[in-house]
Amino acid sequence: MPHTRTLSDRYGRVATDLRVSLTDRCNLRCSYCMPPEGLDWLPDDSVLTDDEVVRLVRIGIELLGIREVRFTGGEPLVRRGLVDIVRRTHEIDPSVETSLTTNALGLARVAGALADAGLDRVNVSLDSIRRDTFHAITRRDRLDDVLAGLAAAREAGLGPVKVNAVLMRGQNDDQAPELLRWAMAEGYQLRFIEQMPLDAQHVWNREEMVTADEILERLESAFELRPAAEPRGSAPAELFTVDGGPATVGVIASVTRPFCGDCDRVRLTADGQVRNCLFAREESDLRTALRAGASDDVIAERWVVAMRGKRAGHGIDDPSFLQPDRPMSAIGG
Ligand code: SAM
Repeated sequence: MPHTRTLSDRYGRVATDLRVSLTDRCNLRCSYCMPPEGLDWLPDDSVLTDDEVVRLVRIGIELLGIREVRFTGGEPLVRRGLVDIVRRTHEIDPSVETSLTTNALGLARVAGALADAGLDRVNVSLDSIRRDTFHAITRRDRLDDVLAGLAAAREAGLGPVKVNAVLMRGQNDDQAPELLRWAMAEGYQLRFIEQMPLDAQHVWNREEMVTADEILERLESAFELRPAAEPRGSAPAELFTVDGGPATVGVIASVTRPFCGDCDRVRLTADGQVRNCLFAREESDLRTALRAGASDDVIAERWVVAMRGKRAGHGIDDPSFLQPDRPMSAIGG
């Protein structure tokens, strides 16, 4: 589909990968993400309707060169219209890749419907395959549901199924090799994500986080890792072959090995704000224009302007770094 504009920034990067948050609500309470009691959720009337989400996605694809759409949250599976939103996105342009980032609670029930609707892949977040550790980190005893969701995704052809894990010191940082062994046996691609300063409680601490170097050290105590030959491109994960391959493991080291120079991502929050970076302190409101009857062209132009302000890097290591007001769950991870 020809598009007349691109989502380019002043540093020559072009965003083609759109992350759409469908809700800020979640049914887990991962300790590094939100407090046990949850958060003050976005008011219902500020959350985009299914039609509004699909319209913005269409503008992104048809007018602005978006080639990948990933639905996230909060927990996207708690959004009632999810399957329909996926189907309508697929119908806009079937060559655009669609995926879902999810905790997999309830995925067993809808994996088939999502695949039928045109979803290509899922990324499932899972920090431990031990029931007690899973319960302690997520504050919910739901490991079996996640494992069932993962298996259903694999059966439904939503692959390659990727599993994302965050290691927390003293909680699961001793479990990296066991997670990798399990993922390889199940045929899932495991990636470890460094803990980022995006928690609602603002307790992230650079000294406490488990770094990429430590993750690799723990894995190398049990496996032989070699940098994978395939070019990384704009992928956030640095890939390593495990014991000669073909299995790989990824490390997403946003904090200690930032990859901002190759970023091709842009985010849309559940309440219709464009964020040009996870760590941006500014966002651009598309919802008001949308609800005021703005044309596709006007909305596209606002989106283009929002990208021009994208900073060269997230600046976590800069002494002036300030954590964004929105936590990860309300931005869309
Ligand atoms: N609920 C969905 C899920 O669990 O995948 C989608 C949203 S969740 C915010 C997306 C990812 O962000 C999960 O893999 C989660 O572990 C990760 N995450 C949340 N807070 C984080 C933090 N402070 N640092 C690093 N990753 C974080």
